[in-house]
Amino acid sequence: MCGIIGLTGQERAIDRIFPGLLALQHRGQDAAGAVTFENGFQLKKGNGLVYNVFNAKNIERLNGNTGIGHVRYPTVGAGSADDAQPFIITTPYGIALAHNGNLVNFFELKKDLVENELRYLNSNCDAEVILNLLSVEMTRTDLKNLTPEKLFAALRMVYDRLNGSYAVVAIIANKGLLAFRDPRGIKPLIMGSNGSSFCFASESVALDLLGYEEMNDVKAGQAVFIDSGGNLHKEQIASGDAAACIFEYVYFARPDSIIDGIGVYEARLRLGEELGKCCKQEGIMPDVVMPIPDTARGAALMVADVLGVRHREGLIKNRYIHRTFIMPTQEMRIEAVRLKLNPIKPEIKGKNVLLVDDSIVRGNTSREIISLVRSVGARKVYYALYSPPLRFPCVYGIDMQTRGEFIARGRSIEEIRRSINADALVYQTNEGLIKGVGAGSRGFCTACFTGIYPTEIPRSLMDRIERDREAPKLLDE
Ligand code: SF4
Repeated sequence: MCGIIGLTGQERAIDRIFPGLLALQHRGQDAAGAVTFENGFQLKKGNGLVYNVFNAKNIERLNGNTGIGHVRYPTVGAGSADDAQPFIITTPYGIALAHNGNLVNFFELKKDLVENELRYLNSNCDAEVILNLLSVEMTRTDLKNLTPEKLFAALRMVYDRLNGSYAVVAIIANKGLLAFRDPRGIKPLIMGSNGSSFCFASESVALDLLGYEEMNDVKAGQAVFIDSGGNLHKEQIASGDAAACIFEYVYFARPDSIIDGIGVYEARLRLGEELGKCCKQEGIMPDVVMPIPDTARGAALMVADVLGVRHREGLIKNRYIHRTFIMPTQEMRIEAVRLKLNPIKPEIKGKNVLLVDDSIVRGNTSREIISLVRSVGARKVYYALYSPPLRFPCVYGIDMQTRGEFIARGRSIEEIRRSINADALVYQTNEGLIKGVGAGSRGFCTACFTGIYPTEIPRSLMDRIERDREAPKLLDE
């Protein structure tokens, strides 16, 4: 998962891209970058948070009214500084590009570019592959008289070769700003306009912050080009059955975003309602319902509503702690969880507590949270998830565990309950997930729950994912 933003208009682009990236920071804390264009590209990127990478001095030199930005969550590759985005190519044509997603056929495409197109690729990032493919196809057109039609024709050739998820923003030097989304719309991309500028972003929250009121999602398989005169051109490049990532609504996206017309907060409320019904069916009757912060807040409210019991905050999160490595002893593990979450003892002591969470990956954190809640005097600890069991790795840009590490892989609900030491465990159903998100007739990717992938997946990729993700092991989920 990454965040992208692209902007062109009458203002200095970086003055809007910087706050836009801050609004997208939750989508990636590993690296950040931006490139602007004015008589050439100006680039700044590096590892770390947006505030670590940018300062007044480097923002000052990023001149130009067209720019793109990126925050990275590592996907393909080890996440080195070389893999930070955006990427630039200057010959035979100037293009800068940033992308959110994951190409399932990345290794084949990279090999092909190196061996057959004689391209030198400097990173393990699939954005560089998309950039080079676009450059290759553009060189086959009349570059001197590049029109939107010729650009879209080149893009059509690129789409023919890409397999996987991609939402892309790109600057075409002296020509304009290009944005496009994969044929299934797996990754989100929204566009805003205000009469003097156009902005593309992964989530509407960035456009809200920048004051855009008119917004439209870029459709699955659609490309949008804003030329240097500020004219808008749209083209349906490819079509396929829509398969937007349903996990955006469960976990990734900010609750104040709207993705493909569905409000994330509203989706989480509905997911909580569906989960509440499951809890009722299971006969769970707690004294109090508590969210595991922060994503589960809306869902926990609705679970309490459906059950007709009190809702309280019982765990307070230190939002400045990110990753906690596996600790050798139980005491150290509880301490590591405590660094992130501290219980409000009077709300827990002597009560039957229902904890609501978004999902369980390996189960380590859930186990430690339950242990923590018991240690401050809970009588019983029930655990409820507003998504179904996660059993399959994501190949579209979400760095989840390998199949073998999913706690739900090959285990019954009862076995998982025992493993995390809960007094009861309730999962959302697959039907509840779809209904809760409010899918209607829309298509969603649910592959990490169902194992049904919306694109072809080479067996070699699955093997590689499992190899690459074996170490280091993190306690985080
Ligand atoms: S596999 Fe899961 S996380 Fe990955 S795109 Fe599909 S729904 Fe989203």
